[in-house]
Amino acid sequence: MNYEKILSEIAAEIEPLRTVGKQADYIPALAKVNPDRFGMCLATVGGDVYEWGDVTERFSIQSVTKVFSLSMALSYMGEELWRRVGKEPSGSAFNSLIQLELDRGIPRNPFINAGAIVVADVLMSVLDNPEADYLAFVREICGDDTVDYDREVASSEREKGYVNAAIANMLKYYGNLENDIEEVLRFYFLQCSVEMDCRQLAHAFLPFADRDRAFLFGDVRLTYSQVKRVNAIMQTCGFYNDAGEYSYLVGLPDKSGVGGGIGAVYPGRYAVATWCPRLNSKGNSVMGMKALELLTTYTHESIF
Ligand code: GLU
Repeated sequence: MNYEKILSEIAAEIEPLRTVGKQADYIPALAKVNPDRFGMCLATVGGDVYEWGDVTERFSIQSVTKVFSLSMALSYMGEELWRRVGKEPSGSAFNSLIQLELDRGIPRNPFINAGAIVVADVLMSVLDNPEADYLAFVREICGDDTVDYDREVASSEREKGYVNAAIANMLKYYGNLENDIEEVLRFYFLQCSVEMDCRQLAHAFLPFADRDRAFLFGDVRLTYSQVKRVNAIMQTCGFYNDAGEYSYLVGLPDKSGVGGGIGAVYPGRYAVATWCPRLNSKGNSVMGMKALELLTTYTHESIF
Protein backbone atom coordinates (compact mmCIF):
# COMPACT_ATOMS: atom_id res chain seq x y z
CA MET A 1 0.00 0.00 0.00
CA ASN A 2 1.45 3.38 -0.99
CA TYR A 3 0.44 5.31 2.14
CA GLU A 4 2.74 8.20 1.30
CA LYS A 5 0.93 8.89 -1.94
CA ILE A 6 -2.47 8.36 -0.33
CA LEU A 7 -1.71 10.84 2.45
CA SER A 8 -0.73 13.54 -0.02
CA GLU A 9 -3.88 12.89 -2.08
CA ILE A 10 -5.97 13.18 1.06
CA ALA A 11 -4.27 16.45 2.02
CA ALA A 12 -5.08 17.92 -1.39
CA GLU A 13 -8.67 16.76 -1.26
CA ILE A 14 -9.45 18.16 2.17
CA GLU A 15 -7.92 21.55 1.39
CA PRO A 16 -11.35 23.17 0.69
CA LEU A 17 -12.30 22.38 4.33
CA ARG A 18 -9.46 24.55 5.71
CA THR A 19 -11.80 27.21 7.00
CA VAL A 20 -14.76 25.05 7.99
CA GLY A 21 -15.57 24.79 11.71
CA LYS A 22 -13.98 26.54 14.64
CA GLN A 23 -11.82 25.67 17.59
CA ALA A 24 -13.33 24.87 21.00
CA ASP A 25 -13.78 28.20 22.74
CA TYR A 26 -15.50 27.03 25.92
CA ILE A 27 -11.98 26.31 27.20
CA PRO A 28 -10.33 29.76 27.03
CA ALA A 29 -6.79 28.42 26.47
CA LEU A 30 -7.97 26.41 23.44
CA ALA A 31 -9.64 29.45 21.89
CA LYS A 32 -6.14 30.90 21.42
CA VAL A 33 -4.87 27.98 19.33
CA ASN A 34 -4.17 28.73 15.66
CA PRO A 35 -7.08 26.93 13.92
CA ASP A 36 -5.29 26.74 10.55
CA ARG A 37 -3.31 23.63 11.22
CA PHE A 38 -3.55 20.15 9.82
CA GLY A 39 -1.35 17.15 10.50
CA MET A 40 -1.66 13.43 9.88
CA CYS A 41 0.65 10.60 10.90
CA LEU A 42 0.19 6.91 10.15
CA ALA A 43 2.40 4.41 12.00
CA THR A 44 2.32 0.74 11.03
CA VAL A 45 2.80 -2.21 13.38
CA GLY A 46 5.83 -3.05 11.22
CA GLY A 47 7.52 0.21 12.24
CA ASP A 48 6.95 2.40 9.16
CA VAL A 49 5.78 5.98 9.61
CA TYR A 50 4.03 8.19 7.04
CA GLU A 51 3.29 11.85 7.72
CA TRP A 52 1.74 14.94 6.27
CA GLY A 53 1.56 18.55 7.46
CA ASP A 54 1.91 19.83 11.02
CA VAL A 55 2.94 16.58 12.67
CA THR A 56 5.43 17.90 15.21
CA GLU A 57 3.35 20.68 16.72
CA ARG A 58 1.83 19.67 20.04
CA PHE A 59 -1.81 20.15 20.84
CA SER A 60 -4.09 19.42 23.76
CA ILE A 61 -5.32 15.86 23.27
CA GLN A 62 -8.39 16.48 25.48
CA SER A 63 -10.80 13.54 25.30
CA VAL A 64 -8.40 11.34 23.37
CA THR A 65 -6.80 10.91 26.80
CA LYS A 66 -9.89 8.92 27.85
CA VAL A 67 -8.60 5.92 25.90
CA PHE A 68 -5.50 5.87 28.11
CA SER A 69 -7.42 6.36 31.35
CA LEU A 70 -9.90 3.62 30.42
CA SER A 71 -7.00 1.27 29.62
CA MET A 72 -5.41 1.97 32.97
CA ALA A 73 -8.65 1.53 34.90
CA LEU A 74 -9.48 -1.69 33.04
CA SER A 75 -6.03 -3.03 33.80
CA TYR A 76 -6.48 -2.45 37.54
CA MET A 77 -10.19 -3.12 37.95
CA GLY A 78 -11.07 -5.61 35.21
CA GLU A 79 -14.80 -6.23 34.77
CA GLU A 80 -15.53 -4.60 38.15
CA LEU A 81 -15.17 -1.26 36.38
CA TRP A 82 -18.51 -1.79 34.63
CA ARG A 83 -20.37 -1.52 37.92
CA ARG A 84 -19.53 2.18 37.93
CA VAL A 85 -19.84 3.06 34.23
CA GLY A 86 -21.69 1.61 31.24
CA LYS A 87 -20.49 0.71 27.76
CA GLU A 88 -23.38 1.85 25.60
CA PRO A 89 -23.23 4.69 23.07
CA SER A 90 -24.82 7.76 24.61
CA GLY A 91 -26.44 9.35 21.56
CA SER A 92 -26.17 12.66 23.37
CA ALA A 93 -23.62 15.41 23.82
CA PHE A 94 -20.30 14.60 25.47
CA ASN A 95 -21.18 16.72 28.48
CA SER A 96 -24.87 15.87 28.85
CA LEU A 97 -26.19 16.35 32.37
CA ILE A 98 -29.77 15.31 31.62
CA GLN A 99 -28.79 11.80 30.60
CA LEU A 100 -26.75 11.32 33.77
CA GLU A 101 -29.73 12.23 35.89
CA LEU A 102 -32.02 9.86 33.98
CA ASP A 103 -29.43 7.09 34.43
CA ARG A 104 -29.19 7.86 38.15
CA GLY A 105 -25.49 8.63 38.21
CA ILE A 106 -24.19 5.71 36.10
CA PRO A 107 -22.61 7.27 32.99
CA ARG A 108 -23.42 5.58 29.69
CA ASN A 109 -19.77 4.98 28.77
CA PRO A 110 -16.22 5.93 29.78
CA PHE A 111 -15.74 8.37 26.88
CA ILE A 112 -18.41 10.92 27.69
CA ASN A 113 -17.31 13.40 30.32
CA ALA A 114 -19.35 11.84 33.13
CA GLY A 115 -17.82 8.43 32.44
CA ALA A 116 -14.30 9.81 32.25
CA ILE A 117 -14.79 11.66 35.53
CA VAL A 118 -15.79 8.35 37.17
CA VAL A 119 -12.72 6.70 35.62
CA ALA A 120 -10.55 9.53 37.01
CA ASP A 121 -12.08 8.85 40.42
CA VAL A 122 -11.35 5.11 40.08
CA LEU A 123 -7.72 5.87 39.21
CA MET A 124 -7.40 8.24 42.15
CA SER A 125 -8.48 5.42 44.45
CA VAL A 126 -6.06 2.84 43.05
CA LEU A 127 -2.94 4.86 42.17
CA ASP A 128 -0.39 5.94 44.78
CA ASN A 129 0.44 9.14 42.92
CA PRO A 130 -2.35 9.60 40.37
CA GLU A 131 -0.84 12.62 38.62
CA ALA A 132 2.66 11.16 38.26
CA ASP A 133 1.52 7.58 37.60
CA TYR A 134 -0.88 8.63 34.85
CA LEU A 135 1.75 10.71 33.11
CA ALA A 136 4.29 7.89 33.41
CA PHE A 137 1.87 5.52 31.66
CA VAL A 138 1.10 8.01 28.89
CA ARG A 139 4.82 8.58 28.32
CA GLU A 140 5.44 4.84 28.19
CA ILE A 141 2.66 4.14 25.73
CA CYS A 142 3.81 6.76 23.25
CA GLY A 143 7.46 6.03 23.91
CA ASP A 144 8.35 9.65 24.60
CA ASP A 145 9.48 11.02 27.95
CA THR A 146 8.91 14.62 26.99
CA VAL A 147 5.11 14.33 26.80
CA ASP A 148 3.57 16.39 29.59
CA TYR A 149 0.48 18.04 31.03
CA ASP A 150 -0.27 21.60 29.99
CA ARG A 151 -1.19 23.08 33.35
CA GLU A 152 -2.34 26.35 31.83
CA VAL A 153 -4.95 24.51 29.76
CA ALA A 154 -6.01 22.47 32.80
CA SER A 155 -6.53 25.49 35.03
CA SER A 156 -8.18 27.44 32.22
CA GLU A 157 -10.64 24.58 31.84
CA ARG A 158 -11.32 24.44 35.58
CA GLU A 159 -12.00 28.17 35.62
CA LYS A 160 -14.89 27.77 33.16
CA GLY A 161 -15.70 24.13 33.84
CA TYR A 162 -19.21 24.75 35.10
CA VAL A 163 -20.83 21.79 33.34
CA ASN A 164 -18.14 19.31 34.33
CA ALA A 165 -18.41 20.55 37.92
CA ALA A 166 -22.17 19.99 37.75
CA ILE A 167 -21.58 16.46 36.41
CA ALA A 168 -19.12 15.70 39.22
CA ASN A 169 -21.59 16.99 41.80
CA MET A 170 -24.34 14.83 40.39
CA LEU A 171 -22.06 11.77 40.40
CA LYS A 172 -21.28 12.45 44.04
CA TYR A 173 -24.97 12.85 44.84
CA TYR A 174 -25.66 9.40 43.36
CA GLY A 175 -22.75 7.87 45.28
CA ASN A 176 -20.59 7.28 42.20
CA LEU A 177 -17.56 9.36 43.25
CA GLU A 178 -15.36 8.18 46.10
CA ASN A 179 -12.95 11.07 46.24
CA ASP A 180 -13.26 14.80 46.82
CA ILE A 181 -15.11 16.48 43.94
CA GLU A 182 -12.56 19.25 43.47
CA GLU A 183 -9.63 16.82 43.46
CA VAL A 184 -11.30 14.50 40.95
CA LEU A 185 -12.03 17.43 38.65
CA ARG A 186 -8.47 18.66 38.96
CA PHE A 187 -7.14 15.22 37.95
CA TYR A 188 -9.65 14.88 35.11
CA PHE A 189 -8.71 18.28 33.65
CA LEU A 190 -5.02 17.45 33.95
CA GLN A 191 -5.54 14.22 32.02
CA CYS A 192 -7.34 16.15 29.28
CA SER A 193 -4.55 18.73 29.14
CA VAL A 194 -1.87 16.23 28.01
CA GLU A 195 -0.10 17.62 24.97
CA MET A 196 1.11 15.50 22.08
CA ASP A 197 1.85 15.94 18.41
CA CYS A 198 0.43 13.68 15.69
CA ARG A 199 3.53 11.54 15.64
CA GLN A 200 3.35 10.87 19.38
CA LEU A 201 -0.39 10.27 19.24
CA ALA A 202 -0.12 7.75 16.40
CA HIS A 203 2.51 5.86 18.40
CA ALA A 204 0.40 5.99 21.55
CA PHE A 205 -2.43 4.30 19.61
CA LEU A 206 -0.23 1.67 18.00
CA PRO A 207 -0.53 -0.83 20.91
CA PHE A 208 -4.29 -0.91 20.25
CA ALA A 209 -3.59 -2.02 16.68
CA ASP A 210 -0.75 -4.41 17.35
CA ARG A 211 -1.98 -7.97 17.77
CA ASP A 212 1.45 -9.54 18.15
CA ARG A 213 3.00 -7.57 20.99
CA ALA A 214 1.71 -7.76 24.56
CA PHE A 215 0.01 -4.62 25.85
CA LEU A 216 2.30 -3.99 28.82
CA PHE A 217 3.50 -0.56 29.93
CA GLY A 218 4.92 -0.32 33.44
CA ASP A 219 2.37 -2.25 35.45
CA VAL A 220 -0.50 -1.45 33.08
CA ARG A 221 -1.34 -4.69 31.32
CA LEU A 222 -4.28 -5.49 29.04
CA THR A 223 -5.07 -8.90 27.63
CA TYR A 224 -5.74 -9.28 23.92
CA SER A 225 -9.41 -9.51 24.75
CA GLN A 226 -9.34 -6.29 26.79
CA VAL A 227 -7.62 -4.43 23.94
CA LYS A 228 -10.37 -5.70 21.67
CA ARG A 229 -12.95 -4.29 24.07
CA VAL A 230 -11.28 -0.88 24.31
CA ASN A 231 -11.34 -0.77 20.50
CA ALA A 232 -15.02 -1.75 20.52
CA ILE A 233 -15.85 1.11 22.87
CA MET A 234 -13.88 3.49 20.66
CA GLN A 235 -15.92 2.31 17.71
CA THR A 236 -19.30 2.74 19.39
CA CYS A 237 -18.65 5.70 21.69
CA GLY A 238 -15.49 7.49 20.52
CA PHE A 239 -17.36 10.22 18.66
CA TYR A 240 -20.18 10.89 21.10
CA ASN A 241 -23.40 11.69 19.25
CA ASP A 242 -21.49 11.60 15.95
CA ALA A 243 -20.52 7.95 16.50
CA GLY A 244 -23.06 6.50 14.05
CA GLU A 245 -22.21 9.01 11.35
CA TYR A 246 -18.53 8.47 11.95
CA SER A 247 -18.81 4.68 11.77
CA TYR A 248 -20.79 5.06 8.57
CA LEU A 249 -18.19 7.32 7.00
CA VAL A 250 -14.91 5.93 8.34
CA GLY A 251 -15.21 2.50 9.94
CA LEU A 252 -12.24 2.50 12.30
CA PRO A 253 -12.17 2.47 16.11
CA ASP A 254 -11.04 5.93 17.20
CA LYS A 255 -11.33 8.71 19.71
CA SER A 256 -11.67 12.42 19.14
CA GLY A 257 -10.99 15.37 21.42
CA VAL A 258 -12.04 19.01 21.41
CA GLY A 259 -8.40 19.99 20.90
CA GLY A 260 -9.01 18.79 17.32
CA GLY A 261 -7.05 15.55 17.58
CA ILE A 262 -8.22 12.09 16.54
CA GLY A 263 -6.47 8.81 17.27
CA ALA A 264 -7.59 5.79 15.22
CA VAL A 265 -6.57 2.18 14.73
CA TYR A 266 -6.84 -0.35 11.97
CA PRO A 267 -6.42 -3.52 14.06
CA GLY A 268 -3.52 -5.67 12.99
CA ARG A 269 -2.09 -3.01 10.69
CA TYR A 270 -1.65 0.59 11.80
CA ALA A 271 -2.56 3.50 14.03
CA VAL A 272 -3.22 6.95 12.63
CA ALA A 273 -3.51 10.38 14.22
CA THR A 274 -4.91 13.57 12.72
CA TRP A 275 -5.07 17.08 14.10
CA CYS A 276 -6.95 20.17 13.00
CA PRO A 277 -8.46 22.43 15.70
CA ARG A 278 -11.54 23.35 13.63
CA LEU A 279 -14.49 21.35 14.99
CA ASN A 280 -18.01 20.59 13.86
CA SER A 281 -21.01 21.36 16.08
CA LYS A 282 -20.56 18.04 17.93
CA GLY A 283 -16.98 18.77 18.92
CA ASN A 284 -15.19 16.63 16.33
CA SER A 285 -12.44 17.76 13.94
CA VAL A 286 -13.86 18.51 10.48
CA MET A 287 -10.68 17.93 8.47
CA GLY A 288 -9.68 14.98 10.62
CA MET A 289 -12.96 13.17 10.02
CA LYS A 290 -12.79 13.77 6.28
CA ALA A 291 -9.16 12.69 6.12
CA LEU A 292 -9.95 9.40 7.85
CA GLU A 293 -13.00 8.84 5.66
CA LEU A 294 -10.79 9.23 2.60
CA LEU A 295 -8.10 7.01 4.11
CA THR A 296 -10.44 4.04 4.51
CA THR A 297 -12.00 4.74 1.11
CA TYR A 298 -8.70 4.89 -0.77
CA THR A 299 -7.04 1.99 1.04
CA HIS A 300 -10.13 -0.24 1.32
CA GLU A 301 -8.89 -0.75 4.88
CA SER A 302 -11.73 -0.49 7.34
CA ILE A 303 -13.07 -2.91 9.93
CA PHE A 304 -16.18 -3.22 7.80
N1 GLU B 1 -11.83 18.46 28.61
C1 GLU B 1 -12.95 18.46 27.73
C2 GLU B 1 -14.23 18.63 28.54
O1 GLU B 1 -14.32 18.09 29.58
C3 GLU B 1 -12.98 17.18 26.96
C4 GLU B 1 -14.08 17.11 25.94
C5 GLU B 1 -13.64 16.55 24.62
O2 GLU B 1 -12.46 16.59 24.27
O3 GLU B 1 -14.49 16.06 23.88
O4 GLU B 1 -15.12 19.31 28.16
